[in-house]
Parts: sequence; structure tokens; C-alpha cells
Amino acid sequence: MSTGANFQPVLEATLQHALTYLGGLEQGPVSASASLEDLRGRLSFTLAEAGLDPRQVIGELVAGVEGGLLGSAGGRFFAWVIGGSLPAALAADWLTSTWDQNAALYSCSPAEAVIEEACGRWLKDLLGLPASASFALTTGCQMAHFTCLAAARNAILARQGWDVEKRGLLAAPRIRVLCNSQVHGSVERTLRFLGLGSECVQNLAVDAEGRLEPEALAAALRGVAGEPALVLLCAGDINIGAFDRFEALIPLAHAHGAWVHVDGAFGLWVQASPGLRHLLKGVEQADSWATDGHKWLNVPYDCGYAFVADTRAHRASMSLRASYLVHAEEARDPFDWNLEWSRRGRGVATYAALRELGRNGLRELVERCCRHAQALVTGIGALTGAQVMREPRINQGLVRFPDPSPSATEADHDAHTDQVIAGIVQTGRAFVGGTTWRGRRCMRISVCNWLTTEADVTATIAAVKDVLGDTPGGRP
Ligand SMILES: *Cc1c(COP(=O)(O)O)cnc(C)c1O
Repeated sequence: MSTGANFQPVLEATLQHALTYLGGLEQGPVSASASLEDLRGRLSFTLAEAGLDPRQVIGELVAGVEGGLLGSAGGRFFAWVIGGSLPAALAADWLTSTWDQNAALYSCSPAEAVIEEACGRWLKDLLGLPASASFALTTGCQMAHFTCLAAARNAILARQGWDVEKRGLLAAPRIRVLCNSQVHGSVERTLRFLGLGSECVQNLAVDAEGRLEPEALAAALRGVAGEPALVLLCAGDINIGAFDRFEALIPLAHAHGAWVHVDGAFGLWVQASPGLRHLLKGVEQADSWATDGHKWLNVPYDCGYAFVADTRAHRASMSLRASYLVHAEEARDPFDWNLEWSRRGRGVATYAALRELGRNGLRELVERCCRHAQALVTGIGALTGAQVMREPRINQGLVRFPDPSPSATEADHDAHTDQVIAGIVQTGRAFVGGTTWRGRRCMRISVCNWLTTEADVTATIAAVKDVLGDTPGGRP
């Protein structure tokens, strides 16, 4: 059999499975209907001795996941911060696996190395970051944090005369971390992985808009004077999309010799919108930035990006020379900037997404998601039994469902809010999630899927209205 003939039947069948799945996203249920028991029964059985025909494997796989996938690839999914996949990005992701390159070094895959080079240049330009910054394509924002903060650890300890790459952290000067208290949990994990530990963090107070107070930062910096310090700022926090005042905070941190890292998992993308980019004013002065491709750019999982102003520190924290590797002279070796050794051609889907959108498409995508988030939060908030807690400034907003009984306590309102969220998810008509914001349970709406339409917004508001009408105690 020719090589192509080995693949053709299963790939053609898979194309049909994929099209059936994608075609069902518009109307189908967005929540899972299969139980854990069902899924284990269908998927997690004893592996047979005998192998199977590839088409049978794929056919049974598709049947096995039935009811166990969420509709997060579609337009009525607003929980967490989860994007879909642009058509070119999905197709490019298929090709990435087809080409099956090891994108570690230019010598392993010249085209993949150059594709990543282009992605880095385009992304820095679109996100308003310095063209001279180094970058890495990672599996997500958390690993982008890791990449950036490994560089930070190198640089701030080098300033104390400590080579962390050689000597490690045992007996190293203590690193202090000053954070916007709303910073994402992935930062804490990163600090643990880096050997800094979660106790090095000092969470700093934020104002009513969720922004770190310059006075709070100034006081904290005075408290760690002379010690190596990291300052972690937010470009779009997870609950309300708050942006720190970079213009005021970054020079303050730099005056104390601190390294400033920005978590911009989705918020950095508002740079694409002329009406919103003022929120990022001054962000380009930071030392490192982390963001995601699999959220607002709508690249398939998993994909994130790290950018570092100090290219020396970035390279020193990642790079290694080995006799059997062929290191590029002129080209960019991803290996010098990434945590992984072998790795997939992670740039291909990003490359395709950016080309499918162009500058205009990215701007429209960002602005459309913000408009839909606004319409969803205000539309749901206007329903009897609902209350807007936070209108979106960008693509994230909060709603609460107070318990209507006159003697209801805050705990009752919390419980009722969770009950309504569960009720919405149960309908399968829209998927939403909860969060605790300033001590109160809320429903968080996040819109970052390119597929979300006005019809999805209308259908979602209608679904919430029906649930509120049906929820015991939900009627005034
Ligand atoms: C999603 C998110 C992260 C973590 O990103 P991953 O891609 O899941 O690793 C970090 N920060 C913020 C603000 C996020 O929304």
C-alpha cells in the first residue's frame, strides 16, 4: 500500500466527523449530558490485545465522546475564558500534526522556525510590544508566565551577583513578589514551579476598579528596598477585565529596580481596538508579558505567548548547547527561548489565524466580543430576578441572581445565584460559570469566541429568562 493509501480512508472519514461536529455547534446542546459512568464505560475500558482498523478507532472514538464534550468551540459558551478556533487555524493545526515536525531547532524544521519568527514579529506589533523583545510560543499563558519569570529570576538575581542558572536557588538572595491581589492563580503555580514558593507573594490592595493603587505599590516597594523584586500586574483580570495603570506603576517599580511582568492572557488583545487600547497605555514599558492564543485569538488548544524585553536573560534561562544538536547561526532556534526540548510546530495555527484575520479582522473580533458581552450582561441584568454586578469594560462582566424572599441573606443570594447558573447550564442552551467577586457569588460572562452572534446573545438571554421563571422563588 502506498503511504497516502494508509491514511486516506481514515482522514476522509475524520473530515466528515469533524464537519458533522462543527455543524452541530450552532443548535446543539452546549453542556455535557453523559455521566462519568457512561464515559468510563465507553472510553476507559481494558485495552484489547488485537489492534483495530484506523477508521474503526476513529468511529468508536466519536461515538465514545458523545455527550461528553462541551460546546466550547461554539458561540453560546461564556464560562471561564475560552475561545474557539478560526477555520484557517483549525486547518493549520491539522497540517501541523500531518507535517509532524519537531520544531525545536531550525535544523529540525527550517519552515517551522521561520513561521515562529513571523508569528513573533506580527504578535509584538499587534500587541503594541517592543519590536526588540524576545518571545516564545508556549502551551498557554501559565507556561508563558513561567518562561517570563524564569528570565526575571535570572536577571534580578544577576543584579545581586548571583548566577541562578549555575547555583540554583538554595542560598540565593530572597526574591520578593508584589502582586495585584486579583492576579490569576496561574501566577502562584508558576512561582511554586520556579522554586520561589507561594509565600514570597505580597498581595496588594486594589481600588474600586480592580486596579492596583500606586500608593500601595510604593509602600510595598519601600518595604522590600534592596531585595530583588518582581511586580506582577494585570492587563484584564479574570472577573471584570480590570487593567492596572501601567503608566504610573511601571516607572515606580523600575525606580526600585524591580522587574515588571504583565498577565495579559486575554486583555493584551484590546490593543487591536483603537477605542480600547488606551487601557494598555504604558504597558510596553514592562519587562515581560504573557498572553494566550487559545483564548481571544481563537487558535485551537493549546497556545500561549511569552515576550521578554531583556533578551539576554530570556536566552540565558532557557538555552543549552549539546554536541549532537545543530544550532542555527542566522536563523532563530525556538529551543533557545522555550522550556520544551522536542515540541510541535506551535506557530502554524497562530500564523494562519493572524493571516485569516488581518489587522481589521482582529479589531472586529475584539470589538464584536466586547459588544456581545455588553449586550449579554445588560440584557440578562434587565430580567426580573437578575442584577448587574459589573458591566463589561471589555469582554467580561458579572451578574447576580438575588434570592427574592424578603428575609434572604447574602448567603441565600449566593446559593440562589449558583442555583440559577446550574439551571442555565442544565438547559444546554448556553453555558455560563460562577465566580466569587468581592465576597459575593456571581455569574461571569466571558465572550471570546469568533462564532458568537447576536442570535446567540438573544437565545442566551431567553434561556436565562426561562430559568429565572422556573426557579423556585425566582418570581417576585
Ligand atoms: C486563562 C488565564 C490564565 C492562564 O492561562 P492558560 O492559558 O490557561 O495557562 C492566566 N491569566 C489569566 C488572566 C487568564 O485568564
